[in-house]
Amino acid sequence: MNSLKKGSLCLICKTKGTKKEADIYLPAYRLPICKEHYLDWVVRRVEETIKEFRMIKRDDRILVAVSGGKDSLALWDILVKLGYEADGFYINLGIGEYSEDSKELAIKFSKEINRTLHIISLKDELLPIPKLKEKFNKPTCSVCGTVKRYYMNKKAKELGYNVLATGHNLDDEVAVLFKNVLTWDINYLSRQYPVLEEEDGFVRKVKPLCRMSEKEMALYSFFRGIEYIEYECPFAEGASTIETKKFISALEEKSPGMKLQFYNSFLKRVYPLMKDKDQKVILKSCKICGEPSVNDTCSVCNMKLKIEDYTKS
Ligand code: AMP
Ligand code: ZN
Repeated sequence: MNSLKKGSLCLICKTKGTKKEADIYLPAYRLPICKEHYLDWVVRRVEETIKEFRMIKRDDRILVAVSGGKDSLALWDILVKLGYEADGFYINLGIGEYSEDSKELAIKFSKEINRTLHIISLKDELLPIPKLKEKFNKPTCSVCGTVKRYYMNKKAKELGYNVLATGHNLDDEVAVLFKNVLTWDINYLSRQYPVLEEEDGFVRKVKPLCRMSEKEMALYSFFRGIEYIEYECPFAEGASTIETKKFISALEEKSPGMKLQFYNSFLKRVYPLMKDKDQKVILKSCKICGEPSVNDTCSVCNMKLKIEDYTKS
């Protein structure tokens, strides 16, 4: 992004026969581009991704999981721009100021684009993340991830949506892919696809930003004037994914486009060999809440049961 040569012209303007100075340079695409064309370029790339992976049909009811961060708010903005009737869903995780600030930003944005934002609060549903961290001796990010996935799926169905869109970007996908490759985790690799079809009690899950880098999305939100939460969740500090991302960014700096090529090549060449290789787990319905589960009771209901035991004793 940083090597825009002074006086470079926007290539898109050039193809349209006009001359305008570029505002940024996209090294992975060797593209100097102006702000207006950049905003449109991002929307078109996301549209292409949606089409290529057949993520969304016109009559789908889409729920966008919004965290208040740049990716998910931008995704919501782009889907609405593309004409989809997409509403938002925010989970208040109860992480002090971080959750309050991000909730306010999600509400503000929903008003700007005039779409419904559904909000749930973990303190009403289960327990806020800091309390869950205290009670269960597991890494916070893993508990948080389990709880978020559970409520995203459950509430999407209850609210009548059949597609759940998340703001995972290229950097997120490449970091996970990289880790799964380091351990050759065939089970995870066989499911690392930007669309997971509706089945076994799950709504369809899509990641339309899977080809957009973190920097590209930050720039989109900045140019578009989207106000988003700029600081990390306090529990994310030291999370191993952050280190992996730093390492991958250093490689990308040396060879622009490497991240995208790694991801695209996986989807094209490796994923087809993996996709039927996972050990199919027969899912049951949780006997308490009815959500898909490996065991008789799902992990969130198990947490609830343990919390009740604690409060009784
Ligand atoms: P993360 O798991 O924090 O990397 O976030 C990945 C994606 O999950 C985001 O892009 C959002 O789409 C969604 N997400 C994360 N946190 C929340 C939240 N508190 N409420 C709703 N969706 C969320
Ligand atoms: Zn359950």
